Amino acid sequence: MDASKFYSLPKLPYDYKALAPYISEEQLTLHHTKHHNAYVTGANALLQKFDAARKDNADLDMKSALKELSFHVGGFRLHNLFWQNLAPAGKGGGGAPKGDLAKALDGEFGTFARFRKEFTQAATGVEGSGWAALSYCRTTSRPIIMQIEKHNVNVIPGFTNLLVLDVWEHAYYLDYKNDRAKFVEAFWNIVNWDEVNKRLAAFLKK
Ligand code: MN
Repeated sequence: MDASKFYSLPKLPYDYKALAPYISEEQLTLHHTKHHNAYVTGANALLQKFDAARKDNADLDMKSALKELSFHVGGFRLHNLFWQNLAPAGKGGGGAPKGDLAKALDGEFGTFARFRKEFTQAATGVEGSGWAALSYCRTTSRPIIMQIEKHNVNVIPGFTNLLVLDVWEHAYYLDYKNDRAKFVEAFWNIVNWDEVNKRLAAFLKK
């Protein structure tokens, strides 16, 4: 098996205790090593299934296989973004955006407070499991908020995600039980705005 042709679980850019008390060590450990890892395993299993079927020239249930692939790869990629756009509070995490990102958000939403309110509402209002995402539309030069259901539904194709927030219960249940709103409030203390700014800069440079 050529490992470069498959997904692998990336290391976190901080240790498991680093996001406490907003995300506890136990919560973060499980989320990364069990849940994120399950999407890696799931996506790779699908790729292997395709490889095997092609080798044997066998038929696949294409609809179900592609649906599963979209779910697992979507989950894999969103978690990669999520870990990177978090940082320990006071050590890169929290505060308000600066530079071009601040300008873009103010230009679109008026104020950072208004952006934060809309993103919070998007996150708390996801029906079932999903994500809030701040994305960017090149056509209109507008930052746009998406409410992603599961990992792959309600997505606007082709947009670049700058900031994502996982609001699956597996992301917060140990720390906040059913209180998703409390978790979303806590999230603002650990947002890595420098990383979000870098993503915007990289996107605009292309
Ligand atoms: Mn998750």
